[in-house]
Amino acid sequence: MVDKTVPELARETLKQLIARKMAPTPANYRSVFNEIGRLPNEPPFPLEELRKIAQSLPTRTPGQQKQRALLEYAVSQMNWRGVQDALVAYGAFTPRENFESSGSGGTANGNGHAVSAAPSPRPEAPAAAPGAPGLTREFLEQIARLIEFTRPALGNDDARFSEQTSEVIQALRAPDADVMQVKKLLSTYTHRVSFAAEDQAEIRATLLHLLQLIMENIAELSQDDSWLKGQVEALMQAATPPLTLRRLDDVERRLRDVILKQSEAKGRALEAQEEMRQMLRVFIERLAAMSHSTDSFGNEMEQNAGLIEQAKSLAELTPVLKQVVSATRAIAQQSLAARDELQGMRDRAQETEAELVKLHRELDRVSAQVRHDPLTGALNRKGLEEALDRELAAVRRKDAPLSLAMLDIDNFKRINDERGHDTGDQALSHLAKVARDCMRPQDTLARFGGEEFVILMPDTPLDSGIDAMMRLQRELTKQFFLTGSDRLLITFSAGVAQLEPDEDRASALKRADKAMYMAKRAGKNRVLGA
Ligand code: GH3
Ligand code: MG
Ligand code: MG
Repeated sequence: MVDKTVPELARETLKQLIARKMAPTPANYRSVFNEIGRLPNEPPFPLEELRKIAQSLPTRTPGQQKQRALLEYAVSQMNWRGVQDALVAYGAFTPRENFESSGSGGTANGNGHAVSAAPSPRPEAPAAAPGAPGLTREFLEQIARLIEFTRPALGNDDARFSEQTSEVIQALRAPDADVMQVKKLLSTYTHRVSFAAEDQAEIRATLLHLLQLIMENIAELSQDDSWLKGQVEALMQAATPPLTLRRLDDVERRLRDVILKQSEAKGRALEAQEEMRQMLRVFIERLAAMSHSTDSFGNEMEQNAGLIEQAKSLAELTPVLKQVVSATRAIAQQSLAARDELQGMRDRAQETEAELVKLHRELDRVSAQVRHDPLTGALNRKGLEEALDRELAAVRRKDAPLSLAMLDIDNFKRINDERGHDTGDQALSHLAKVARDCMRPQDTLARFGGEEFVILMPDTPLDSGIDAMMRLQRELTKQFFLTGSDRLLITFSAGVAQLEPDEDRASALKRADKAMYMAKRAGKNRVLGA
């Protein structure tokens, strides 16, 4: 710039405009002014035009919104560099890009300092963008809800984490949410969530391990009870991941059965132990008394023998003999009493034994009340009733279809007759195993009676229920039942019923049973819908 003051330059400029006959427009004035002042002759800043352009830019994403605000600010400051940065960053946003990229938009242009260093006017985050009303607010609300819903899964025992969660939700829902601030909070929060999720996974795995350890120990303690052992094995199988709520429910029910049976068994053992202890005590007392009596009898006899030797006349012998007779009578009486007592003890032992047999029967009765069939591990009738009630309640709550199938093995009597009852039992277990393997985790298998099974299929309409049973038929043709060196094909006939609105469990079972009967009538080894 030449050595002149601005007013001098302004005066000179006006003179030159007149001398050159130039119109006194702002552009001409600026051009002559720069020439006289020897300043670089830059084109004028198109403030209004740029402002209009900035205002016409759509703001469909938070990123676009932010960059438009930065552009407007740069325009108002006539800052070309700021305009360029904001436009480049704005262009980097596509509708596919999410909130995360909007947050990094400030630095996406490579030299974000020009943009982000400028005092950023608060981009009105939740404002509705034309063409996409309420998108931003809705978007932030969705994240808030996502966090809220996942919150219980991450545990609530870390107070700082809980606080942080509330803080993030609050920031997301604030009517004047600052996108940059929310982004910062979210990124710290994401970091914490990753740790919390890891913690939860570890806690789950450890708990599961603990559960298995407890079950292994129960199994060890009950070596002599095959029912209990079988149940514990089934329990351990049910507690193998992947765990669903239904499976956990099954684990809980099985565990209750086991605990029930264990407490009964423990009560029985304690009672028998007490009985034995009592009898042993009496026996030892009796033995001690006997040995004491015989000892004193021996001493007395020895003394009497000495007196007899020293006696010189019959008169001297008479009192000694009297003493011998009375001592002998006394010991004989004591022996008799001891014999009676031992006899009594033997009778009591027999009574105890009878009592134990009774207790055993009672225990079997209690076992029958548990919910699982010991042979196949499937639910028994009682278990089925409970499971059905639960599913019925779920159906009413969720308004989802529930199908149930009634299966009856074909010609099962023949297997029993030709191969024996044990083979028949193994065939039942085989069918239950194949059914369990090919069913979904949420399905329930129950033994309805003899060689009849019921399968509950939640969220399943009739046609899918029929398909599922046909799949089980095919599976049985692949997984033969092996008995000795023979491969037997087990077939069944089934009726499938989809629960009708307001239908009770008895009616649904009856319809499935009727359809199963029709399947038998139609030639067996087939599935019919009710
Ligand atoms: P269908 O094809 O008409 O069903 O003929 P089926 O022979 O299968 O039917 P039926 O009802 O005549 O015979 C069922 C047999 O199942 C009779 C019974 O002895 C046998 N059974 C019932 N429960 C058990 C069990 O727990 N173990 C064994 N091994 N057999 C059982
Ligand atoms: Mg039958
Ligand atoms: Mg049958």
